[in-house]
Amino acid sequence: MALIPRVLNAKPNLQRRLFFLAKRFVAGETVDSAVAAVQQLNAGGLSATLDFLGEDVLLERDAAQTTDTYVAMIDRIVAAGADANVSVKLSAIGQAISEDLALANLERIIARARETNMFVRLDMEGSSTVDSTYRICDRALADYEHVGPVVQAYLHRAAADVERLIAARMRVRLCKGAYKEPPPVAFQPMADIRANYLTLARALLERGNYPGIATHDDQLIEAVKKHARENDIGPERFEFQMLYGIRPNKQRRIAEEGYRMRVYVPFGTHWAGYFYRRLAERKENVFFVVRSLFSK
Ligand SMILES: Cc1cc2nc3c(=O)[nH]c(=O)nc-3n(C[C@H](O)[C@H](O)[C@H](O)COP(=O)(O)OP(=O)(O)OC[C@H]3O[C@@H](n4cnc5c(N)ncnc54)[C@H](O)[C@@H]3O)c2cc1C
Repeated sequence: MALIPRVLNAKPNLQRRLFFLAKRFVAGETVDSAVAAVQQLNAGGLSATLDFLGEDVLLERDAAQTTDTYVAMIDRIVAAGADANVSVKLSAIGQAISEDLALANLERIIARARETNMFVRLDMEGSSTVDSTYRICDRALADYEHVGPVVQAYLHRAAADVERLIAARMRVRLCKGAYKEPPPVAFQPMADIRANYLTLARALLERGNYPGIATHDDQLIEAVKKHARENDIGPERFEFQMLYGIRPNKQRRIAEEGYRMRVYVPFGTHWAGYFYRRLAERKENVFFVVRSLFSK
């Protein structure tokens, strides 16, 4: 893992040369490579959501460029006839500069998405941004119904958030949460996170609006299938979601069983932060990277 800070701090040119390390988890550096990855997934019966990597943007110009890329992505998805929607990190389109700016950029993305009723997912980032993300989501929803947030099950507040989102008929993605959060904010033991995840997943399955069950965790996947079966919740009422390059065989198997599976496909040159989170959360992922060092 000592390698990682060096990759994160490497100059852009060197980082580009190090891309082969992240290749398993990141579908290339261009829109074209990402759409090609989506088409491959589609051919295997999987749908996708595309994420243009980048976060914590502090310059209006960079936020505008990221927004332009999202607009271009939507055009490319539509032109390719691909089965995909988009996932947006609000911090990449100006949230840290001002909520109004992030909303204005989001509205530019939505204006294009609206032409084909494409769903726009708002990823959830560190806990200091959660309230602001919900505020922006609520404002966007007033004008376009196909927008939805993410709930991180590690947060103590998640249960209250889920109840509000269910009442508002919002389309939610449920995940465990990928950021380092302190005990007053988030459950720490994995057993507690799993237990909360399952409680929230059950509520969303029973009363929610087409929830996205985003996890690679067999215990949770099996518990969700069981709950759906026992409560007559058909596979058309929810979808499983996993990350590009993580458990690809499992992704296909779940789809072959008749469930919907959407793969989150990140791409772009700003892959270091995303790559770091994937390595930090699982030793299997480090193993894939180490193996790629020898098979380059
Ligand atoms: C589609 C999607 C979108 C997401 N969006 C967000 C977001 O907006 N905000 C956010 O904070 N987080 C997001 N995440 C990340 C998420 O919060 C977790 O950090 C991440 O998914 C790891 O948790 P997990 O439940 O998948 O599995 P883990 O807790 O990492 O693993 C649990 C179990 O899953 C199995 N497993 C996991 N990985 C592997 C592997 N590589 N090989 C074999 N078995 C494995 C093992 O049995 C393991 O014990 C997203 C995740 C997904 C899938």
